[in-house]
Amino acid sequence: MATIEEIRPEEMQSHERQPASTEEALWRDDPRLARVPAVHAETLIAAGSRAVIVAPHPDDEVLGCAGLLMHLAQLGHPILLVAVSDGEKSHSQDSVLSPALLSHVRPAETTQALSLLGVSDITIIRAQLPDSDVAGHRTKLQDLLGAYLLPGDTLFASWQFDGHPDHEAVGQASREAARALGCRLIEIPIWMWHWRTPDHAGIPWQRARKLELDEQMQERKKAALACYRSQLEPDHSTGNAAILPPEVLAHFHRSFEVYFV
Ligand SMILES: [Zn+2]
Repeated sequence: MATIEEIRPEEMQSHERQPASTEEALWRDDPRLARVPAVHAETLIAAGSRAVIVAPHPDDEVLGCAGLLMHLAQLGHPILLVAVSDGEKSHSQDSVLSPALLSHVRPAETTQALSLLGVSDITIIRAQLPDSDVAGHRTKLQDLLGAYLLPGDTLFASWQFDGHPDHEAVGQASREAARALGCRLIEIPIWMWHWRTPDHAGIPWQRARKLELDEQMQERKKAALACYRSQLEPDHSTGNAAILPPEVLAHFHRSFEVYFV
């Protein structure tokens, strides 16, 4: 089995240095993705179980699981969002969007997006671990999850081989915490859609399930994604491109979300 180091090229070290992206058409036309079976939200999470979403950065909760959040809200599940970092390192040092400013701007974008999704009954814990160095604080995250998790919770976390170091550290800490408490862990690929191709050997197709979003949910997810303006707009103060340009966003405008069960 490949280690993280073996499957993560050097250029995958931060949001700012992105290699060429994988076009959404490549995923859309792939027979392996087409064959992924559908799953109902009620199958992903048992009745009465609390959903704990562990998001590395403000935007991952909506990129990865806006549809799930809407389903959970409809089904009346309690939701705990563990916001691991405030995403303060998304822009370069000379940007007008400084870390101090981003640590306020980005969580506020999450609040607005969740409101547009109609997800109001949600508890948010901000761990404020350092963006871009979650791996250096993995034990701390594991301890924090251990303190807040309850037996019977269902944990949703970024995939442990997602390609972004913070996402992978969150996936690993969540796996350990879930194992310690006997909680179910479901993983969410996010940057995989951008940095990997369908031929990537590490994609666990056998564990993949599709959660369908009806048309209204798709529209609400698009509207919620539009709240993350700091990530969607080019940085005029530095001339840097948007963190989430349209070709990346296209992966998250689908009529379904994929979960590794
Ligand atoms: Zn992220």
